[in-house]
Amino acid sequence: MTSLKIKRSEIEKIDIANIQGGFTASQVMDRYKPDIIINLALYDMASLTNITKMLDENKESGYLFSDEGIYIDVNNNIGWCTFNEARADSNKDDYISGSPILVKNGAISIEWGNKVSSYLLGSHKRSILGFNDDEVVLISTDEVTLEKAAKIALDSGCKYAINLDGGGSCHLQEGNRIYTGSARRNVSWLMIYKKNTNEEVLEMAKKVCIDAGHGKSTSGKRSPDGKLKEYEFNRDVAKRIKTILEAHGVDVTLTCTGDTDVSLTQRAKTANNAKVDCFVSIHANAHGNGVTWTTAQGWEIYVCAKGGKAEKLAKAIQKHSIPELGLKDRGIKEANYTVLTQTSMPAVLVEHGFFTNKEECEKLKSDSFRQKCAEADAKGILEYLGITYKEKAETNTDSKFPYKVKITANLLNVRKDAGTNYPVTCTVKHNEVYTIVGEKQNGSTTWLKLKSGLGYISSKYTKRV
Ligand SMILES: [Zn+2]
Repeated sequence: MTSLKIKRSEIEKIDIANIQGGFTASQVMDRYKPDIIINLALYDMASLTNITKMLDENKESGYLFSDEGIYIDVNNNIGWCTFNEARADSNKDDYISGSPILVKNGAISIEWGNKVSSYLLGSHKRSILGFNDDEVVLISTDEVTLEKAAKIALDSGCKYAINLDGGGSCHLQEGNRIYTGSARRNVSWLMIYKKNTNEEVLEMAKKVCIDAGHGKSTSGKRSPDGKLKEYEFNRDVAKRIKTILEAHGVDVTLTCTGDTDVSLTQRAKTANNAKVDCFVSIHANAHGNGVTWTTAQGWEIYVCAKGGKAEKLAKAIQKHSIPELGLKDRGIKEANYTVLTQTSMPAVLVEHGFFTNKEECEKLKSDSFRQKCAEADAKGILEYLGITYKEKAETNTDSKFPYKVKITANLLNVRKDAGTNYPVTCTVKHNEVYTIVGEKQNGSTTWLKLKSGLGYISSKYTKRV
């Protein structure tokens, strides 16, 4: 015999699953993600109908055993009333009549109403739903008579209790723990969702906009030998930065993905709409008439104004760029470029050397130099965002990932690793959507790895979107 008492104050939601054709317990757990389930209405295998009278979201099924029973209202309160009272009150959206009633007003009271089912008489395994002022009580018994079942319910502290379906249908489960198990498909289940009481606030994944300057048809913007077009270098480096940042859990928005030029105001708009944490525009520099090579050389970075967060970002990128790229440091400069002034977040524009300088142009053409530029920029951006750069960041090559899920619990703990025994790092909230980059199995629970790198959440409280 198991008597499971759940404090009403710890209950987030109580609901009924009323399923055409029935679901097994594991199907209910998978589909609806409750914390606790018990088989519910008495079901007639011959007529394939609920015999217990029920309301599920004000939809009626079955017929009466007792005139009274248990309601669940829209605020997830559980209480006692007649079927007609429940039907007349739209706040009472779920209802289960007793089949039969076992305990009423704190006393044993076996009541059938106008219907007695002979196969409920005698000894059977029984499932019982009851409650008192503080608790909801779910009971699974051995083979007992109705009289014994009522006694057990009363002894378990029930002020009100009703008999549910029994025999081979009995199933009581909390999480992975099955107290009484049935492989049977039951047409209705009571589902309890417990509250998550952690109130910490989640730090969302960081977002960055990478802007690759110019387009294929932008006039000028090419090396004197005609072999390097600036837009092509810019796009290549932007893509490489994106790969590195994403491997560190950062969401990356690109202002342009094709070859064509995108207007400066549109670039700023894209970043503003994506509500990114910072904006980095990728360029290579030019000097002279564009026809002849010149000696101007070096790396520089632009901000709209010094003294703020943009300069902090510029300094972080500078710190990683100068030693790694081996270019002359022309420093941090101020300019009223549209992408710096019309963006609503810290924004910088990086000039990765001169394509009008013969020596630097050769570097800009090379794969290895482009990778160095991307790594230096990414390291600076990560440092600015407070994310530790990892030489070999975790990249998941499984095509299953990434995918997105929506949180179905009101508040859900994020754990440091895949299991409830790991510390809580933060919480996520109802209806928030997260990108999942990995999965780990712990017992029968699948844990989902958040792209932000903050930890793992139980898949039980998520829905694929
Ligand atoms: Zn440029």
